[in-house]
Amino acid sequence: MTTLSNLKEKLEKIKKENPRINAFIQLRDEEELIEEAKKIDEKIAKGKAGKLAGKIIGVKANINVKGLNASCASKTLEDYKSPYDASVIKKIKDEDGLIIGMTNMDEFACGGSGETSAFGVCQNPSVFGLIPGGSSSGSAAAVAAGFCDLSLGSDTGGSIRNPASHCGVVGIKPTYSSVSRYGLIDLSMSLDQIGPLGKNVSDCELLLNVIKGKDECDSISQDKRIEKINKNFTIGILDLSDLKVDSRIEKIINEKIEKVAKKKNWKLKKIRINYIDLAVETYYPLVYVEFFSGTRKFDGRRYGMKIEDVAGSEVLRRVFGGSEITKAEYHGRYYYQALKAKKLIEKEFAKAFKVVDAIISPTVPCLPWKIGEKISVEEMYAADALTIPANLAGCCAISIPAGEMNGVPVGMQIMCDKFQEQKLFEIAREVERI
Ligand code: GLN
Repeated sequence: MTTLSNLKEKLEKIKKENPRINAFIQLRDEEELIEEAKKIDEKIAKGKAGKLAGKIIGVKANINVKGLNASCASKTLEDYKSPYDASVIKKIKDEDGLIIGMTNMDEFACGGSGETSAFGVCQNPSVFGLIPGGSSSGSAAAVAAGFCDLSLGSDTGGSIRNPASHCGVVGIKPTYSSVSRYGLIDLSMSLDQIGPLGKNVSDCELLLNVIKGKDECDSISQDKRIEKINKNFTIGILDLSDLKVDSRIEKIINEKIEKVAKKKNWKLKKIRINYIDLAVETYYPLVYVEFFSGTRKFDGRRYGMKIEDVAGSEVLRRVFGGSEITKAEYHGRYYYQALKAKKLIEKEFAKAFKVVDAIISPTVPCLPWKIGEKISVEEMYAADALTIPANLAGCCAISIPAGEMNGVPVGMQIMCDKFQEQKLFEIAREVERI
């Protein structure tokens, strides 16, 4: 298929179904897109096209794409037009990926349901009426609905893997510092990573290989060379006894991995990560403080509206909560304690990865709830209990479809040690295939 015919097919689907799904909150000018698609096709014909030629790509609305609106799905930045390309966007353009528009998300990436966007809730194309998950809700929904081939999301505590799981697509959170965050409007600088979502493991691998690596504009970004992989894998099955997990989901995941392990002759081993039950409580003080500090620039003078004047309740909870716990009298009580707990959990993972090649669990401990259903803040935060640990540890993790429960997709999470993405893809591809 040519880039042009692919684009036309996607545009048609978007026109027909996006009003109902609300995965895209901004699309690029159609004529401009068509012109660009034609140029890419010419390059393909001459054998001069880049690695992403032919792929149509959606971008989460918290990543700067020159000329488009990085609104973070907030009234705060409703009229903010990006003056520059994020480093990941530059790399995508250099490899001839065609960016089609900006995807919906939870406001400022605060949330896990896709319901907190200021521009309307995003629907789950796989099970209409249920949440798509979040915060990269539009990026997952757009892939699931066939609006684009690939998309970019950002993941602080699960925002790529959680919606990937609920929408039945693949999503990867790369190793901390392996992808440049220059141009990302971040939620929490010590946890965030940009990563790809796609229909299958190989597509995600393709996009990750384009965007990863050292970038002069992001001082913590780095390249790491990985030694050869020994394919006699030992897979750790995460001990879930300290956590609240729907036993039916656990069963789907266990049955799936047992089947794959048997076929591939992999060893299975139950693995315990101490303190994993503290992950959610460790995560939120870090996020509240770093988000509060990061949002001080949204004071209504430089970039649109003052955040406190227009943002929704979840964003305000974090801004005011963060302001409170950074007060001098609490010095050392919350943020520094959380940093210490983060270190402990990171060490536990390092220990585990000496014994196993990968750790497997459900991606989300519960099924997606109904859009609009009232759930408590605690319940919402607990939905990330299995994804947050990888962010605290800084390792890489993927969510891939593992089955269904009454037609609702269930995702399997596979976590590997830092910079072991190659191994992660190797394992994920086998699970996907079998
Ligand atoms: N749901 C989590 C939160 O609200 C994760 C968000 C994210 O990864 N951006 O913080």
